[in-house]
Amino acid sequence: MKRRQFLAASGALIASSVVGSTANAQKMLNPRSPNAVALGFHSQHSQVNGKKWRKKANNAGVEQRCGTCALFRATGDGKGSCRLFKGKGVPDGGWCNGWTAR
Ligand code: SF4
Repeated sequence: MKRRQFLAASGALIASSVVGSTANAQKMLNPRSPNAVALGFHSQHSQVNGKKWRKKANNAGVEQRCGTCALFRATGDGKGSCRLFKGKGVPDGGWCNGWTAR
């Protein structure tokens, strides 16, 4: 590989790394934000109050978490984006009352 080809390839690799890290650096949803509170969002689905959020309390609720939700799109590292909370990341193990079966 000639020097010019090497530099061009290196530049492309660096550019793709920056784009990738930007996508993964999506700011996480604040559980205390008004929208998150309104939907009962919790970053750990196993700690959701089933007396308050009945959908999560029944047997089917055991499997409910962001990672099994139709509105979740994994972005890596146990995180993803959610169509309800646009522009914010949510953990794979989170939950909110908007959970939708796939
Ligand atoms: S809608 Fe689904 S992916 Fe979004 S926060 Fe609620 S459970 Fe998680």
